[in-house]
Amino acid sequence: MHRHDADTEHLSRLAVDYALDRLRLDPPPLDRPRSEADLASRLGPSVTETGLGIDEAFRRFTEVLAPACISVDHPRFLAFVPGAPTEAATIFDLVVSASNIYAGSWLEGAGAVHAENEALAWLAGLAGLPAGAGGVFVSGGTAGNLSALVAARWTWRHRDLERRRALRPVVLAAPGAHSSVVQAASVMDADVVMVPGGEFGRLTRSGVDRIRDSLTPEVRERIAAVVATAGTTNLGLVDDLVAAADLAEELGVWFHVDGAYGAAALCVEEMRPFFDGIERADSFIVDPHKWLFAPFDACALVYREPDRARAAHTQSAGYLDVLAQDHQEPPNPSDLAHHLSRRARGLPLWFSLAVHGTRAYAEAVATTLATARAAAHLVAAAPHLELLCPVELSVVALRRRGWTPRDYAAWCEGLLDEGLAFVTPTTLRPGVELDVGSIPDTVLRWCIVNPRTTIDDIALLVERLGTEPRT
Ligand SMILES: *Cc1c(COP(=O)(O)O)cnc(C)c1O
Repeated sequence: MHRHDADTEHLSRLAVDYALDRLRLDPPPLDRPRSEADLASRLGPSVTETGLGIDEAFRRFTEVLAPACISVDHPRFLAFVPGAPTEAATIFDLVVSASNIYAGSWLEGAGAVHAENEALAWLAGLAGLPAGAGGVFVSGGTAGNLSALVAARWTWRHRDLERRRALRPVVLAAPGAHSSVVQAASVMDADVVMVPGGEFGRLTRSGVDRIRDSLTPEVRERIAAVVATAGTTNLGLVDDLVAAADLAEELGVWFHVDGAYGAAALCVEEMRPFFDGIERADSFIVDPHKWLFAPFDACALVYREPDRARAAHTQSAGYLDVLAQDHQEPPNPSDLAHHLSRRARGLPLWFSLAVHGTRAYAEAVATTLATARAAAHLVAAAPHLELLCPVELSVVALRRRGWTPRDYAAWCEGLLDEGLAFVTPTTLRPGVELDVGSIPDTVLRWCIVNPRTTIDDIALLVERLGTEPRT
């Protein structure tokens, strides 16, 4: 089992051939989920006392399991936030796995950590953070937001530990903030106070003015962070980051920007004005597994002053003493987020950046932006459709005139059954994207981050929306 022999040689070829074939498929089959009963009967018992052997175990993956997983990089996967890793990033992920690098500490993973830091420095530079900024790759935006907010809370509390030790922290966020921000607050036993949202739940200057005027001294004391979203997940809208930064500055608290989806657009120069204010962030995140063409799972978490994150996150134990640093070296990645052991998950992004250069990234993101704008025009021009809001980044939200939530669901299911597209309805919620008091509104939402998604893919969907859903 731990020795390289003829069997593992055989498996190496099977696996590498399979991986290369999967990469060559353009497009890959969309595939679809199966019921547990169906999978159980087709897979059969697979964890057995004596083992299935290489060929049979591998066959069960390729023939039974893999087709029951939707291909996120299919050009008509437009649900949630898709991903479209470059070949260089994906292939290098195989190398990262084979190397099994421990990338939690400088001592053990200096080479990998140095490369990850190069990729992080590129992102910090795009945002306009000063030299000295740095961070770590964590599993996703959810982990990134939590770790950033834990650092924010530490900073807030330690400014006046005596008084704040027993205070429950408050996080200020706009209604359009990602669900993980509310979840992070819940994990931290913090309260979220919503900044009144502008149109579509976006954080605006007027919302900031209203919250400032309504804060009691008691709540004000408890505010640990202001969180703004650079690209809301539902509608792809960027908060007024300057207004959010002003609010954080005035309150003297941490400013965190959640750019898990949208901050990738920073690499396109014309898009920079949307993100004005992000350069004032104490921390921000962006998920390379979304719109920066890396495989799952990778969230870049960047801090203005990594030492503050270090203070909040460093674990202490006798067996870790040897890792304690004298500040001559870059921080241990494990000290910058809520984790200890970690995979060098930033390396696939780093390698692809090193291979292709940053301009190729700007061009690939620009391609998706152009497709999204063209899609918006198609939708706006179709009499049976209604474009719901301006397309700032690459989310197109639309309504099919006359359809009920059941129609949307049936239409989406039909497309998946046919292997044609994976799209899902979303809900605009009262008090979030809609005015309080209105009723939830089911609509369609297409998120375009795959450079291989073409306007023909969108035209196909627009045409299919002209027919009635199969029910
Ligand atoms: C996707 C997303 C997240 C969560 O990221 P995961 O990687 O899925 O954990 C957080 N914030 C925003 C704005 C997102 O779009």
